[in-house]
Amino acid sequence: MQLHYIANASLPSSGGRTIPVIDPSDGQPFDELQRGTAEDIDQAVHAARQCYDAVWSKLSAAERGRLLMRLSAKVAEHAEELWQLEQRDCGKPTKQATADALALARYFEFYAGACDKLHGDTIPYLDGYSVLTWREPHGVTGHIIPWNYPMQIFGRSVGGALAAGNVCVVKPSEDACLSLIRVAQLATEVGFPAGAINIVTGYGHEVGDALARHPGIDHISFTGSPKVGTLIQQVAAERHCPVTLELGGKSPQVIFEDADLDAALPMVVNAIVQNAGQTCSAGSRLLVQQSIYEPLLERLGKAFENLRVGPAAMDLDVGPLIRASQQQRVWDFLSDAQHAGIAMVAQGQVVEEAPETGYYQAPTLLRDVPVSHRLAQEEVFGPVLAAMSFRDEDQAVELANATQFGLVAGVWTRDGGRQFRMAKRVRSGQVFINNYGAGGGVELPFGGVKSSGYGREKGFEALYGFTTLKTVAIKHG
Ligand code: NAD
Repeated sequence: MQLHYIANASLPSSGGRTIPVIDPSDGQPFDELQRGTAEDIDQAVHAARQCYDAVWSKLSAAERGRLLMRLSAKVAEHAEELWQLEQRDCGKPTKQATADALALARYFEFYAGACDKLHGDTIPYLDGYSVLTWREPHGVTGHIIPWNYPMQIFGRSVGGALAAGNVCVVKPSEDACLSLIRVAQLATEVGFPAGAINIVTGYGHEVGDALARHPGIDHISFTGSPKVGTLIQQVAAERHCPVTLELGGKSPQVIFEDADLDAALPMVVNAIVQNAGQTCSAGSRLLVQQSIYEPLLERLGKAFENLRVGPAAMDLDVGPLIRASQQQRVWDFLSDAQHAGIAMVAQGQVVEEAPETGYYQAPTLLRDVPVSHRLAQEEVFGPVLAAMSFRDEDQAVELANATQFGLVAGVWTRDGGRQFRMAKRVRSGQVFINNYGAGGGVELPFGGVKSSGYGREKGFEALYGFTTLKTVAIKHG
């Protein structure tokens, strides 16, 4: 039985109700988590506030850094335990789950080193004045986290907030929270004071909503769907609470005829099958220059046919989707494609060992998807790649920008001038040239434009969002 973690103590929900924890690899329940209440959130916010006032705000930046560094080492030491928890909870193949645990340690390491590098400025002004700026923490920050990368998103969001001097109340997804409860316990073991990191589990419309509405929350970091992001923004607007929104995407992978296809193809495949396509930055649209469209689809089709899907612990190319409703969502998209006459180029295979009760979906490559079709516009959040062709650079830009989203774009070309032009003309928070994702480096600021959200997490840039700037102007006597 999983419990909340508030003020360094494991506690049941005040409501006395629980939610089953399901293993996506076989669809069976194996644990229970607390179905939190608004009262639980209130308790966590009070614990956080007490910690902030009495302890955390009095620590030096270097002391915060040392705590984060110890947490990084502790996470690395417990990496196997953490990835195993997340593997069962989310259905992640071992490669992915391991990478996520190591990324969490790396986030804490990066933000440990950043604590005492964050500072304000002095500003030249009128004679007789000294003007300076201070970067002050918001105070108590709220973190609403999705199920697709719990450890990674916790690392970038909570790591950044703590480094900037905040204390945190975290609402993980009801579909994946086991690893995060454990990380909070590990933080206690390395000396984090009671109330610095609090975890309250439960449903979004109950505890997530209560967190977003709580007057004691000074900033909200939300990562999740555009639909819920809109709700959070509305709720936060009522009390003018600042929000960072990390939302969805429909990211293009653009391949020009001069591209190094041997380098591009494995990355194009990985960008849509990683985490079974349940990635905000999934490269879910493939834009290919006309002259190489047919041969490229043929090569890509073969690569898709070789992809194997199965239980997380088998560590194949693709694991299960998170839950039955997500599987149904992907099926609905594929059935719409069929009705619209969209042709399928190839599909991977689900292995025989995969239990029928698990939530499996073979990676699917579709071709000539019309730009107006929902498969070219909406986030599927499954391993489905929608291919289309373009004539020239102008049309590539037009298609790349033809969705409501703007999270990530990948561009493959050897032409140096085109690399810069494309980077400039594509509207998205990140553009990757001749790669996709740059290996996920924690140093790289990440976030969207348009319906992909606003604000940046990851990298040093995140610290600006987790602080507020105070201007101090002193007139000399
Ligand atoms: P979701 O929006 O359904 O849920 C996200 C979180 O919000 C969960 O913890 C959920 O419980 C909570 N929530 C739900 N309703 C709420 C409400 N009314 N008030 C407050 N909280 C509420 O998203 P999901 O299905 O968990 O995650 C998938 C989505 O997340 C995709 O759209 C994906 O693109 C996006 N995502 C974005 C990024 C990014 O960095 N941009 C990263 C990962 C995932």
